[in-house]
Amino acid sequence: MSVTPPAPGRPAAATPTRAERLERLASEPFDLLVIGGGALGASTAWAAARAGARVALVDGGDAAGATSSASSKLVHGGLRYLGLGDVKLVREAHRERRWNARLVAPHLVRPLQFILPVGADSPHRPAELRLGVFVYAALSGFRDGRTGRLDPAEAYTLAPGLLRDAGRTYVAYHDHQTDDARLVLAALRTAELLGAVWLNYARVEGLRITGGAVGGADVVDAVSGARFAISARTVVNATGPWVDHIRRLEDPGAADSVRLSKGAHLVLDCSEPWHAAVTSPLPEGRVSFAIPWHGLLLLGTTDEPFEGDPATVRPTEADQAQILAEAATSLAPDVVSPARVRSAFAGLRVLPLGGTSTAGTRRETVITVGKAGMISVAGGKLTTWRRIGVDVATRALASIQLALPDADPAPLVGAADPDAVTAGLRRLHPGLPEGSAAHLAGLYGTLAYDVLEPARLEPELYEPIVPGGPDVLAQARYAVEQEAAVRADDILRRRTTVALRGFEAEGRERVSPFLPARAASPDDTQVH
Ligand SMILES: Cc1cc2nc3c(=O)[nH]c(=O)nc-3n(C[C@H](O)[C@H](O)[C@H](O)COP(=O)(O)OP(=O)(O)OC[C@H]3O[C@@H](n4cnc5c(N)ncnc54)[C@H](O)[C@@H]3O)c2cc1C
Repeated sequence: MSVTPPAPGRPAAATPTRAERLERLASEPFDLLVIGGGALGASTAWAAARAGARVALVDGGDAAGATSSASSKLVHGGLRYLGLGDVKLVREAHRERRWNARLVAPHLVRPLQFILPVGADSPHRPAELRLGVFVYAALSGFRDGRTGRLDPAEAYTLAPGLLRDAGRTYVAYHDHQTDDARLVLAALRTAELLGAVWLNYARVEGLRITGGAVGGADVVDAVSGARFAISARTVVNATGPWVDHIRRLEDPGAADSVRLSKGAHLVLDCSEPWHAAVTSPLPEGRVSFAIPWHGLLLLGTTDEPFEGDPATVRPTEADQAQILAEAATSLAPDVVSPARVRSAFAGLRVLPLGGTSTAGTRRETVITVGKAGMISVAGGKLTTWRRIGVDVATRALASIQLALPDADPAPLVGAADPDAVTAGLRRLHPGLPEGSAAHLAGLYGTLAYDVLEPARLEPELYEPIVPGGPDVLAQARYAVEQEAAVRADDILRRRTTVALRGFEAEGRERVSPFLPARAASPDDTQVH
């Protein structure tokens, strides 16, 4: 059986409160418990809920609070992986990229042109890169627009921060970009509309194993400190960098299944609008991206082996210096000035064991089945999140003889043409600041109408969260009432773009009146 979601953009049922979610999780029997509310956990829950299974999902922190809000935010075939000879991965990623952009979330997954600058100091020759780009486009059926050599003047217009260098050749190709955290939230809300129950700040501390089979988990509500158990016929562990930690709750002797690599990004001001991203080839098959993102410039990323506690990963000054230096190989010095840096973030890639350097390791999904039948999934890419979720849900539901998920893509709640939503918002909400209609249409799709509905009666909700920014106070209210935000950070970092714009302190003050009264302060909620 496949369950049809309500018409995109119109939640059918009232969003449950935190207390209602807790009550259901602690009292109802579930078919599937998913541990981890990043991209892979959310997509697994969504696929299983579509198949009609009773699904529970918990995350120890906020939804998308770890790797899935710290990516380069690209939905891409992965040109770099062609260099690693991974044609199958690239072809599959291209296919998923197109589905995400056309059907799953057209408002959140947007086309983006990329420019590869090639000079005498580049690790690749221009002809080599033109051939690579041609094969890349061919694997996508040449469906994305013009690829190949670009006139320098055109390259400078598209990416105004490019270093002016007469000796360079410019090669164009196409991919997509997204807002990773909002994509995960949209998947969780879609799963919820299909009957799933999800809760953030609910940390799994133990597994319930009866007769050798996993049948649920012991959970701590990190907001209240209350403990409860969730009962489920099968369990999926989608805890990203913590995957082996949860595997060892099932089998204390379980060997490592993955290794971690840290990647940091910087968010910079840009004085002129960019219409294309820049991919600068670096030695050892690495690249440095400069990506226009919500009117800012995202630079990254690093790739360093990481062996500490995943909860401690942070961007450092050394990361900043490396990112700026690598970007400077293709961008003008004033563009990569430290004075332009507004914010930084870091996350952990989960990589299969083996391989030599982390950069040279294939981004494969690692799926293992433990002694008590728990399915663990980690790694892979945001781009292929939907497909990985279908595969994992298929395994999980097959193990308890339930109907299998539909492998065909389906729209997430809110899925819409962002331009149509922008026009509708402008018509209905003349009080909305310039630039906010397009911004909200991109983040929420048709759900932007719901976000702004209360502002018709309370026009102060049209006010920007911070002066000059496109995020408005109505989003803070919506984040708490409809999107399970508990802490200021949840609103500022993952449900809006305020923190990445560098306005965390000002934003915190502005959104705090909207926070639930009982929520712990940001510093005393123990997440992991
Ligand atoms: C620097 C970097 C750049 C990247 N760029 C791209 C890109 O541009 N495009 C792309 O396709 N892919 C990219 N990726 C890969 C992509 O981000 C990941 O594949 C994806 O986000 C992984 O999602 P996940 O759900 O497995 O993990 P996560 O998002 O880390 O989710 C795991 C969740 O488990 C929760 N958890 C942990 N322990 C517990 C517990 N005990 N109880 C309950 N919950 C728990 C955590 O709080 C967390 O939210 C990038 C990755 C990195 C690190």
